[in-house]
Amino acid sequence: MPIADPVLREIAKKALLNYKICMNCYARNPPSATQCRRCGSKKLRWKKAKLGAKK
Ligand SMILES: [Zn+2]
Repeated sequence: MPIADPVLREIAKKALLNYKICMNCYARNPPSATQCRRCGSKKLRWKKAKLGAKK
């Protein structure tokens, strides 16, 4: 689903990537989270993905 407009694409990228993943239960957590809201683990990582690399 390519988005032609670079402004829209930037917004979409932030919305899609701006969250943290629990390394214990893989729940999504808000970017401000310091621990998992589901299991309480503090092993959170940023969602890693590359958008815009492919056309
Ligand atoms: Zn968790």
